[in-house]
Amino acid sequence: MSILKSLRWSQSGIFFLTLFISTFPMALQQTIPELDFLITNAKIIDGTGSPWFLGSVGVLNGTIAFIQPNSSSITPIPSKLVISADGSYLTPGFFDSHTHDDIGILENGPAIAKILQGVTTIVTGNCGFSTYPFGSLERVKEHLESLLGEVDDRNMYDSFGAMQTSFITQGHMPNVVSLVGHGPLRLSVMEFANREANETEIETMCEILEEQLVQGAAGISLGLMYSPSNYASHAEMVALGKVVSKYGRLLAAHIRTYEGGLVESVEEFVGVLRESGARGLLSHLQTAGKPYWGTRMTRALEVLEIAREEGIDVAVDMYPYLAGSSTILQILPPSAMQEGFDEFLLKIENPTYVNSLRELTENGQEPGWESKVKLIGWENITVGSVDEPNLKRFEGMNVTAAAREIGLQEFDFVLLLVVEDLGRTNVIMFQQSQDDQNLVFGSRLQMVGSDSIPRSGGKPHPRGYGTFPRVLKNYVRESRIISLEEGVRKMTSMTAHRFGVLNRGIIRNGMAADLVMFDDNFEDGATFEDPTKEPTQIHGVWINGEMVVDQNGMIIGGNSNPLKPGIVLAGDEIRLSKSANKPKSR
Ligand SMILES: [Zn+2]
Repeated sequence: MSILKSLRWSQSGIFFLTLFISTFPMALQQTIPELDFLITNAKIIDGTGSPWFLGSVGVLNGTIAFIQPNSSSITPIPSKLVISADGSYLTPGFFDSHTHDDIGILENGPAIAKILQGVTTIVTGNCGFSTYPFGSLERVKEHLESLLGEVDDRNMYDSFGAMQTSFITQGHMPNVVSLVGHGPLRLSVMEFANREANETEIETMCEILEEQLVQGAAGISLGLMYSPSNYASHAEMVALGKVVSKYGRLLAAHIRTYEGGLVESVEEFVGVLRESGARGLLSHLQTAGKPYWGTRMTRALEVLEIAREEGIDVAVDMYPYLAGSSTILQILPPSAMQEGFDEFLLKIENPTYVNSLRELTENGQEPGWESKVKLIGWENITVGSVDEPNLKRFEGMNVTAAAREIGLQEFDFVLLLVVEDLGRTNVIMFQQSQDDQNLVFGSRLQMVGSDSIPRSGGKPHPRGYGTFPRVLKNYVRESRIISLEEGVRKMTSMTAHRFGVLNRGIIRNGMAADLVMFDDNFEDGATFEDPTKEPTQIHGVWINGEMVVDQNGMIIGGNSNPLKPGIVLAGDEIRLSKSANKPKSR
C-alpha cells in the first residue's frame, strides 16, 4: 500500500492504519496552520517499542499534528508556544490498565496521584466491582463498599450512560475507560444468591450487559475470588463473554485463585475465552503464597502463550510491588459472606461457628480459596485503611502487632475489625516473590496496571502513587529486565489497543495529544511507610492537548483547582465521543 493512500485514509479518520504503513514520522509542514504548541529537542519514545529519536512534536486542537526528527536543515514551523524538552523523554500519556478509581478519579487527591505518574487515561470497573448498573442500589453499593469504604449514593449509577453524563457534568483530570463489573450485574438480577444462575437469569444479565456495551462500556470484568462473582458457572461466564465478543470488547478477569491453583485458574479463564470468542485480559498476574513461589509462574505464562498460538487474544496486567491489597473479607473463607454481611453478623453470635471460622481462616481451604494466614502468616498482613474512627489508629500496623496492642489473638482482632468497620477495612498482603514478578514483567503479554484502591486517609498501598515511575526505575534502570521503550509500550500502546482505544497510546500524527515528559531520573517516592509521596523528575503532562503538569512537575492551577480536560472514552464511539463530550476545564 502506498504512503499516499495511507495519508488519504488518515485524513478520513482511520489514524491507526498509518501505524502499520509508515515506519517514519511524517512532517506535514506544508499542510498545517500555526500549532498550539511545539515541544522541541525531546527524546521521543513513540509507544510502539521502537527506540527513541531526538526531535519535535507539535500539537493543534488537542491532536498531534507535527512530528520531526532533529536535523540541521529544519525549517521553523509556526507555533504559538515553543517548549524545549532539553533532552528529556517525550512519550504518549500512560494508560493505567487496572484501577479501582471508579469514584476516586472525581476527587483531586487520587486523580493528581495518577497525573503525577504520567497517567492520562485510567480503566475503571475492575475485578467485578463497578458503580453501575444497579437493579438494587443497596446491594450494589454494599458490594462496592467492601472494597472502597463508604460510598455516597450520588456516585452510584443505574447505567454506563448515567455515569458518563455525571462525569461530563463534574469534569475529571484523566480520560476514563470503563468496564462493567460482573458483581453489580449479577446482584441486579439475583442479589447475593449463592448458586449458579439459571438460563433466564443468565439471559437477563446478558441483556443488561449488552445495554452497557451499546452505551459505551469497554467490556466486563469478572471477580472470581469475590462474592457473588465466584458463584458464576462456566455457562454464565461464556454467555457474558459472547456478548462482549459480539461488540469486539474485552473480558477481564480477576481469576479464581492466584495461589496453588494458579495454573488451573489461568486455564479456566483461557477456556472461557476459547468458547466465547472474547478478547481477554487477565488481571494482576502473580503467584500468591510462599509455598507456590517458583513453581507456578513459568507454566502460567506458557499456558497464555500457547493460547495465543491457538488464536486466543489474551494479555495480562500487573503492578510492580510484591504486596497486594484488597478487602479484609478476603482473609475470611468465602463461605463466611455467602449469605451477605447481615447474615454473617448473625452467624458469629454462635461460638461454635466462630471456632470453625477461626480454624478455616488460619488453616483451611474452600473451593478456590486457601488460608492467607497459612500461606503468608498474620505478620505479613497489614491494616491499610479503616473507615471507623475508633479503629484508625491501627492503620499501617501488621495484624500481629495490632492484635498484641489490644490484647487479642490475631483472628479475634480481625473479626473485631470486620464487625466494627462493617467489612470495609482494606488490607495489604506481602505475598509474592521477586523472581516470579520478574517473569511477569519480562513477558511481552504484560501491561502495567496499578490496581490502585483510593481510600481517604490511612496507609494505602503505595501503588496508587508510584506504579509507573517505579516500573521504569526497577525493571528498566535497575534490574534491566525490559528496555525503556518496552516499558513505555507496556504503559501506552499495548493498553490502549487492548481496550480498543485506537487513537491514543502512540505518538503519531492524528493521535490525541496525551503526552508525558520526564528525564532519566524519573522515579517513585511512595513507600509502604510513606505511601502518598509524589514521584520526582516529571517535566510535563498533557491531556487532550491541555498541559496539566508544568515543567517543574507542578499541577497547573494548583492541587485544589486543577484543570480537568479528561473525557470518558466510550466503546465504538471513542473518536466520536471527543466532539460529543467536550473537554471541560475547571
Ligand atoms: Zn483484582
